[in-house]
Amino acid sequence: MLYADIIIDISHSRLDQTFQYKVPEELERVLEPGNVVEVPFGRGDHLKKGYVLQITEHPACPPEKLKRIGRIETDLVGAESKLTALALWIRDYYGSSTVQALRTVLPFREKAAPKKKKRIVRTIPKEQALEFLEVFRKKHQSARARLLEALIEQPELPMEIVTGSLRITQAVIRPLEEAGMITCETDQIYRTPAVLEELKAQGGGTDGALPDGSGVQLNEQQQHVVDVICGSWEHPDGWLIHGVTGSGKTAVYIELIAYALERGQQAILLIPEISLTYQNVLRFYRRFGERISILHSRLSQAERYDQFERARNGEIDVMIGPRSALFTPFPNLGMIIIDEEHEDSYRSETTPRYHARETARKRAQLEGAQLVLGSATPSMEAYYGAKNGWYHLLELPSRATGGALPQVTTVDLRQELKEGNRSILSRALYGKMRQRLEKKQQILLFLNRRGYSGFVSCRACGHVLKCPHCDVSLSLHRGGRMVCHYCGYTQEAVKTCPKCGSPFIGGFKAGTQQIEEIVKKAFPQARTLRMDADTTRGKDGHAEILRAFGNREADILIGTQMIVKGHDFPNVTLVGILAADLSLHVSDYRAAEKTFQLLVQAAGRAGRGKEPGEVVIQTYDPEHYAIVCAADQAYEPFYEQEMAYRRLSLYPPAGSMMAVHVSGADEAHLAVAAGYLAKFIRQVSGRCEAAVIGPADEPIAKINDVYRKAIYVKHENTKKLIAVKNIVEQYIEMNEGFREIRVQFEMN
Ligand code: ADP
Ligand code: ZN
Ligand code: ZN
Repeated sequence: MLYADIIIDISHSRLDQTFQYKVPEELERVLEPGNVVEVPFGRGDHLKKGYVLQITEHPACPPEKLKRIGRIETDLVGAESKLTALALWIRDYYGSSTVQALRTVLPFREKAAPKKKKRIVRTIPKEQALEFLEVFRKKHQSARARLLEALIEQPELPMEIVTGSLRITQAVIRPLEEAGMITCETDQIYRTPAVLEELKAQGGGTDGALPDGSGVQLNEQQQHVVDVICGSWEHPDGWLIHGVTGSGKTAVYIELIAYALERGQQAILLIPEISLTYQNVLRFYRRFGERISILHSRLSQAERYDQFERARNGEIDVMIGPRSALFTPFPNLGMIIIDEEHEDSYRSETTPRYHARETARKRAQLEGAQLVLGSATPSMEAYYGAKNGWYHLLELPSRATGGALPQVTTVDLRQELKEGNRSILSRALYGKMRQRLEKKQQILLFLNRRGYSGFVSCRACGHVLKCPHCDVSLSLHRGGRMVCHYCGYTQEAVKTCPKCGSPFIGGFKAGTQQIEEIVKKAFPQARTLRMDADTTRGKDGHAEILRAFGNREADILIGTQMIVKGHDFPNVTLVGILAADLSLHVSDYRAAEKTFQLLVQAAGRAGRGKEPGEVVIQTYDPEHYAIVCAADQAYEPFYEQEMAYRRLSLYPPAGSMMAVHVSGADEAHLAVAAGYLAKFIRQVSGRCEAAVIGPADEPIAKINDVYRKAIYVKHENTKKLIAVKNIVEQYIEMNEGFREIRVQFEMN
């Protein structure tokens, strides 16, 4: 006998409760987790829809007490059923409870009632109403007369007007309603994201758009990409569009979406939240009008739910948003597009720590939809996937506007120091900045700071201190020790460079604020704007700075990686990258990849208008392949060298790596627990020959008084790591010692 754990009514927040049912013999072979079934429920045995979460041979209570599943709902394989299956996959792959996975994937209703709008409708013909009006007037029933008079003018009125300017109370409405003269109707109002409201109010704008709203005429290379993907619609597959910055990927996405819509299907477009600007949404709005909706992180749970409802009801066909838009419950999903697929924001930071790329691949498979990834700098995972046949590679090698890619100069900062220039502005960059300012063109200065980069380097020779075991940079800690965040190796900080003996060795300290001061001193007439975590804290700080710079209210924009992401400033002709190697030495195996991506994307901001662009890359490490390849805008050579490094150290995508993050408020207890956990993981992993590293402090070892450590497990095969994860999950659950410790898994 088989038993199934079933959730009833998935749209409510009480997902935690499952009920067990017997699986009838005829269903034993066909029933699968994710199926929607009909089951008797409650005292009256009313038939209800339920979702199968798990099938087991072990009853949770005496079997005679269990009811039987009625049947599998085959006619109603709604979006929920497929999304439930996706949630279960997420649970098993990334590690989380069923409830956590379901909550991530399925929109659930908040307790707050959906926003409703009421109106009063006249139900009798005008002539009859006029007769009643006479009667009310004769009887001096002035409130009734007032309402009826208004309804004779206009057969229906919003409730606000009735109770507001007409000053009508319920005591007046009710008798008229009972007499059958009027009815009170309620419309469900969907809360609309502000950007869409704004677009609607402005009629979608017309600046620069073709009058018919069809957008640009695709060039040959764009058309080729569209033709290939649309030509394979009968056999949906995975695609990677590698298109240089400015190659016109957005126009391609628009055509692909239009094709899906023509076929009666729906499409999801994921874009990083930071690129979800008014200008970008406008391009889609012009083409698809109110068939689109958007999600973003500032929407309330209720607003998000409403957008999902609209998708389910067929009111919209296109959802644009960050990673959670992936779970839009479209009934007939035709395509998922992930723009800038290399972005870190596609990985969830909370359990389950799913990655939108992998999860989209799964959803596309489950629903027979096309998956399209796009980037100027594909992630190692995506490109590796393309090499291994999981995705078909499509190239857009030149800019859509016909402009050339910018010309790049690399400046060796060690040489600058040798020749007596200690400023963060090299002589080459300074000179080019002066020229641009004279020509009234705009400049971007990019400080390549990413995450926590407490690395130690020599300013004379560029040497960086690395872990002898893991080949990542060591981080300088307050006590003066240098630490590896993978294996926990530590050593004393050095006073002189072990390579060249120079005393100019230490951490790099300059921030955007200091740079702004230096720039202001060097160019007192120039107007500067700064964009970093400090200046964008307000609700619209980020959009406001971009708008001001776009309107040429400043000459120089100084910022961190926020300024390099997908913004189109046609008047920018010079991009200065102040210290390209800063992000190279974050203690993370992806440091070189992230650096290459940031440099190429930053360079891509230059010369997007008519004037050609120029880029200056300043660095202490001009020979590093990430910097050399970025300067040449050479993706393939970078990929090959980076893959060689990943293969050597068995880092993903060459192998698989699972991080086990543990955290807790009691430092000593955490250390002991992490130690035990690592020991247990070593035992389990020994059997499948996975390598276990750590425990070590996380790059940020303490946040809000919570201490954090991590253990890493590497193996060629992801499936082996999932098996290890499952055993470790059970161990944690059974072991009292982990009650106060939070454990999170992160795959690859
Ligand atoms: P990407 O996202 O690939 O960096 P975009 O989609 O932002 O590039 O396009 C870059 C610029 O090229 C935009 O200003 C866009 O309007 C323009 N563009 C795109 N396709 C064409 C085309 N076929 N003809 C002319 N201009 C185009
Ligand atoms: Zn040195
Ligand atoms: Zn190490």
